[in-house]
Amino acid sequence: MGREPIVPRLGRPPRVHLWHIGCQMNDADHLQLAECFAEIGFIPDVALEDADIAVLISCAVRSNAEQKVYGKFKELIPWKKARPGRAIALTGCMAVEHGSALLQRMADLDYMFDVREPEGFFARLQSLHGGDVDGPVTMPASDRLLAYVPVMGGCNEMCTYCIVPFVRGRESSRSTAEIVGDVRRLVDRGVREITLLGQNVNSYRDPQTNTGLPELLAAVDAVPGLWRLRFLTSHPRNAVPQLFEAMRDLPTVCEQLHLPVQAGDDELLRRMRRVYSVAEYREKIAVARATVPDLALTTDIIVGFSGETEAEFEGTVQLLRDVEYDVVHIQAYSVRPGTAAARRPDDVPLAEKKRRLNHLLQIQRGIAGNRNRALLDRRVEVLVEGVAVDGRAYGRTRQGKVAWLPAGSARAGEMHVGRVAAANHWQLDLDTVSSAA
Ligand code: SF4
Repeated sequence: MGREPIVPRLGRPPRVHLWHIGCQMNDADHLQLAECFAEIGFIPDVALEDADIAVLISCAVRSNAEQKVYGKFKELIPWKKARPGRAIALTGCMAVEHGSALLQRMADLDYMFDVREPEGFFARLQSLHGGDVDGPVTMPASDRLLAYVPVMGGCNEMCTYCIVPFVRGRESSRSTAEIVGDVRRLVDRGVREITLLGQNVNSYRDPQTNTGLPELLAAVDAVPGLWRLRFLTSHPRNAVPQLFEAMRDLPTVCEQLHLPVQAGDDELLRRMRRVYSVAEYREKIAVARATVPDLALTTDIIVGFSGETEAEFEGTVQLLRDVEYDVVHIQAYSVRPGTAAARRPDDVPLAEKKRRLNHLLQIQRGIAGNRNRALLDRRVEVLVEGVAVDGRAYGRTRQGKVAWLPAGSARAGEMHVGRVAAANHWQLDLDTVSSAA
């Protein structure tokens, strides 16, 4: 979708600024779109002031994300008007959810396209700028050490609060060969850690061979030069022993499992249509921990869902205390129009949602502190992501924990092993650091 006329001839390859908000899938789409622009001879990922086209990769999962997209779009209007020929494109979940209504609402929007089917958008750009480009542009070596690679789109679950199935559609997996090809390209450009992405990543099925996520992890693990491999987001329904065995046996796969539980009460889970009971979830966690040594567990929780009673909330509190997660992402429930839950009353007052959220945060802070302090004096491996102004290097352990290294001991892109000398609920401090790669 778009308007005419769009962009006049430039006499040089158009330069593109890409901006995204929201989940890791949008981060991966950002990288993918940059490669598509390079393939058609455009210069991707330039600073806004140097750009001819600005592409907004939007998010519709929560209304405040949409507000940020509208805010960013407003900022772009004077940028666009400052030089004739500039254009603004919008893609991501808002393009799917609102469709052409956005073109009515955003008078300065030139293009809108579905990120899953960008061919029409790129074809239009090529027809306008065929004379401006000299052929494909080589993507510069990445300054990224970490990258996301989507392995599947969509979701076949129908959690009552979630809009994803409506904006991302049914599950559709990419082939293992295509995914491995993406990983090879990224590793060749300097990426060292890959996170495989899917809304429901552990329901991955190769379209030709029907093999699942454990086999995909094995294929990606074999890519030379890859140091670390993670995957997001797993659904408890598909968290099977074979997956935990792959995590244990494949050297690059990190000991980190994100397994959203959302609530710790069976009736609440039924209203959310999460298709498992608390007991089944606990059993999966027990098998995962028994299989994968040093496993870090993280989860998502929604508080204040429609009709959540104090007793139901207490079930969540108890689950949190019993499982002892490393990290918990907690959200207060907010209604998304169009979902099944939107037909139920949003009847937990905001103040009560906040109280429940803060209560869980406080409990989790204590648990995370204890789990991190249990690592004192142990040696952990860190992939260094950067160096702060005080000279200390920082990165993450295989369990995904933030770790700081002594000033002057490491540079970005290096792998080190260090002793945990101090720990609190959100980070580790290391000393006696030695190179690990
Ligand atoms: S599994 Fe995740 S993405 Fe799919 S509907 Fe449920 S919450 Fe949404």
